[in-house]
Amino acid sequence: MKDAAMKPTDPKFVPPSDAADRRAIKPVICYPPEALIPPDLEALSTRRQSASKSDEVTALPRDAACIDVPAGCFFRISSVEGPQVGDLNLWSKADIKERFYSGKTRALHGTHLSTGDRMWASFPHLRPMATITADTLDWYGFDEFGGSVHDVIGTRCDPYTGRLLSGSDYHHCCHSNLTRAFADHTGLSMADAEAHVHDVLNVFMCTGFTRSTGQYFMKASPVRPGDYLEFFAEIDLIVGLSACPGGDCSEEHSSDKTTCHPLLIEVFDPGKEARALHRPPPSSAYDQSHGRS
Ligand SMILES: [Zn+2]
Repeated sequence: MKDAAMKPTDPKFVPPSDAADRRAIKPVICYPPEALIPPDLEALSTRRQSASKSDEVTALPRDAACIDVPAGCFFRISSVEGPQVGDLNLWSKADIKERFYSGKTRALHGTHLSTGDRMWASFPHLRPMATITADTLDWYGFDEFGGSVHDVIGTRCDPYTGRLLSGSDYHHCCHSNLTRAFADHTGLSMADAEAHVHDVLNVFMCTGFTRSTGQYFMKASPVRPGDYLEFFAEIDLIVGLSACPGGDCSEEHSSDKTTCHPLLIEVFDPGKEARALHRPPPSSAYDQSHGRS
């Protein structure tokens, strides 16, 4: 990847005499993760061993699928035929207004997620919707370009940005794929369903920001058939997954040019008794008065 010049390319103001000192100040982590109660991964691993497969659905290439996952179950997203990136949405089954909040998840866990990280719900809930329990790509870490996998920094490819940049309409972006799948799953109209589609966890996608310009980049995903990302459902979920038209995202998206593959979602149920032992996390205790009585 070729970086453009440093940004801004042509500063209009002269640096102050203490510019070097100001730049040398060490950063502090905005949201220290120590304040979060960590998931009990050992207990989840034990529960997972007693779970058996109860359901599955396939997101076909350049299309999406939705599936219900009850609280206390696990779901696994697998690469099956070739390198492929997936755009993941989560909704609460009980109230679809409660949905995955990628921006706050990024603030809490960083740019890319792996085992032990949570997928957090929108306000006013701000509770874990799902916990990542296994990631066969956890060996990847960060590469020399600053890239890593499973990001919460991208959005989802969509026909509006495609129109803005190319001037043409493309109907199989992840935004549209998720809209069709969510409409089919819920019975909502396409317009109503579209309003519930949100920014994603980019499963298997390898991304980062260029050092000099801060531009969002992607590169060929290291995922191979057999790799998977597995989650524990903290609440009753509708899981939506799009097999991105970008395929492994090595070249481009928002077109039919790239080779695409399906993605498999499987649900694993530890049984009614084990599920009954799980207590869904409560919504935020904030009183929502916002300073008004
Ligand atoms: Zn996409």
